[in-house]
Amino acid sequence: MIVILKPTAPKEEIKSIVGELKEFGMDVQVNEGVECTVLGVLGNTYEVDSDSITLHPCVDRVMRVSEPFKKANRKFHPDNTVIDVCGSKIGGENLAVIAGPCSVESEEQIIKIAKDVKASGATFLRGGAFKPRTSPYSFQGMEFAGLELLKEAKAETGLPIVTEIMSPKHVERFNEDVDVIQVGARNMQNFDLLKELGHTKKTILLKRGLSSTIEEWLMSAEYIMAGGNENVVLCERGIRTFETYTRNTLDISAIPAIKRLSHLPIVVDPSHATGMNWMVAPLAVAAVAAGADGIMMEVHNDPKNAKCDGAQSITPAEFDGIMKQLKCATQIAGRTL
Ligand code: PEP
Ligand code: MN
Repeated sequence: MIVILKPTAPKEEIKSIVGELKEFGMDVQVNEGVECTVLGVLGNTYEVDSDSITLHPCVDRVMRVSEPFKKANRKFHPDNTVIDVCGSKIGGENLAVIAGPCSVESEEQIIKIAKDVKASGATFLRGGAFKPRTSPYSFQGMEFAGLELLKEAKAETGLPIVTEIMSPKHVERFNEDVDVIQVGARNMQNFDLLKELGHTKKTILLKRGLSSTIEEWLMSAEYIMAGGNENVVLCERGIRTFETYTRNTLDISAIPAIKRLSHLPIVVDPSHATGMNWMVAPLAVAAVAAGADGIMMEVHNDPKNAKCDGAQSITPAEFDGIMKQLKCATQIAGRTL
């Protein structure tokens, strides 16, 4: 952290700030320049509230020079993280493909979709059992009955299951029954939930919050990792912008940004990013070309009658076509599918 003092800063006040910083256990280097004095502050500077330092009348501004995330930071972990979930890898050379309906609706529905997406090459099955709906009057999911059906679909196909958790109370049950626990966009900053998940060793798919910056998203990953669980996969699912044509705006630039800042794998969800089934294919291809480690797509056998997110759901036949396009895209990105 760097503290830049005003040119008029009296020596007494400089001494007093240096003393305060040292009380926090910081090492302080005082650099007296021609125009002003600059303090170089070394140590765990997150112990210091940089905003309150600016309250000293002689302080011009305070700048942090390192990112606040440590365990998620590529600087401290140069190699890409590769996570193995029941033999299916996320973050390695192979593209991970997570496919399935928005919500589990019935045994027949989830088993049929699971078999279809598996036949086309999906590597994970998704399906919501607990649904975070904007309206309390909308379908809330089949809850634990849905979880049981997902397990049945896994037994039929061998596909590891990805499903969303909403409450810290469910961590124990999800830890037993689920292969990848999804934290949805609305819960990205549910810190109690993140802390609980940090005490497991389960792979966590952490979706980017609706209006979250990349740094806030990585800080949420840090919450999970700080608890001891380093199996975190990030998922870009679109953010809110002024554009209303699409449900959200897919931030493709988040892919290279995350790759530069972090070693964690990143998956892209073009279904929730756009809300339109016909945009899934081009954006999935773009995400793979830009370096995504995986794609998550909503697939429904009867989108018109889906209980949730039908408009953005592709059919199993369309999914099959997209998988062929993704095969070509993986060649650009130096991956395999
Ligand atoms: C979902 O994956 O079904 C979902 C609700 O996603 P998000 O949290 O990105 O809206
Ligand atoms: Mn959905």
